[in-house]
Amino acid sequence: MKALVADAINEKGIENLKEIAEVVVDTSISPEELLETVGEYDAIIVRSRTKLPAEVIEKADKLKIIARAGVGVDNIDVNAATQKGIMVVNAPESTSITVAEHTMGLILSTIRKIAIADKSTKAGKWEKKAFMGMELRNKTLGVIGMGRIGSQVVNRCKAFEMDAIAYDPYLPPEVAKNMGVELYENIEDVLTRADVITIHVPLTPETEHSISTEQFKLMKDTALIFNCARGGIIDEDALYDALVSGEILGAGLDVYEEEPAKDNKLFQLDNIVCTPHIAASTKEAQRDAAIIVANEVITLFKG
Ligand code: NAD
Repeated sequence: MKALVADAINEKGIENLKEIAEVVVDTSISPEELLETVGEYDAIIVRSRTKLPAEVIEKADKLKIIARAGVGVDNIDVNAATQKGIMVVNAPESTSITVAEHTMGLILSTIRKIAIADKSTKAGKWEKKAFMGMELRNKTLGVIGMGRIGSQVVNRCKAFEMDAIAYDPYLPPEVAKNMGVELYENIEDVLTRADVITIHVPLTPETEHSISTEQFKLMKDTALIFNCARGGIIDEDALYDALVSGEILGAGLDVYEEEPAKDNKLFQLDNIVCTPHIAASTKEAQRDAAIIVANEVITLFKG
């Protein structure tokens, strides 16, 4: 059994794979080289650099499994793989804690004005009065999408003594109840009542621009909103207007309608904290992703 590790993954995953396979690690393999050699492998492990389009999969005559050591599978033609009987696996649970922690970072940075105070302090100003913040205690967290990440954000916000309400039409009410979360049947009620709104839904036709002008109008003028899910769920033009007009107080984004986001007009505003799609970037998440997908490969071959 021969496995190709085509993108850099944590060493522990490679170590585990070596127990059952001859492992070739070639993290700079070109698309042309891959096309030429893909037929030799029983398993391929990628992250996001290596693309596996239909033309590569077509030539993968021995391949049984493609493993993506990460969340999405956008770089793999899953239909082509399925048609050829190749299993595609990923590790969506590997980043949940990491993304939840990053969300907490954005929330705290925004509510206590840490990012902007950092800039000012390092510029030699001492603007104590400019950075009056608010406590999270007794505030209401509004979670849109109570899946793996949303529920971890709830756990963390409970430790800050926040109340939690949520909108997730696919979540069984008893699950929310067990987590101490009040589940609402419509998103508008959550947007109206929450002090801190955090988005953790997938980007779908249903969720795209689901937070736009009308929704910002419903929010408190002291509300803060965060998106560590996918760009495009929040309508950025509407967010810009809401932040400038004072319709809401602040925001935090890790994801953008266009990435890499370079000339985004939101970057001109002081009441938004921005990070460059790094919510999932921790050593622990990468290690877990590598271990999880290596285990999937091992299970397939060892049973
Ligand atoms: P998940 O599938 O566990 O949870 C998503 C939840 O959203 C589910 O409970 C689902 O029922 C709910 N949902 C679906 N459609 C909805 C709708 N229209 N309204 C309300 N709820 C809805 O996913 P997850 O692992 O928690 O990930 C959540 C998001 O975070 C995804 O968009 C994912 O792509 C993103 N993500 C971002 C990063 C990053 O680097 N910033 C990393 C990992 C995941």
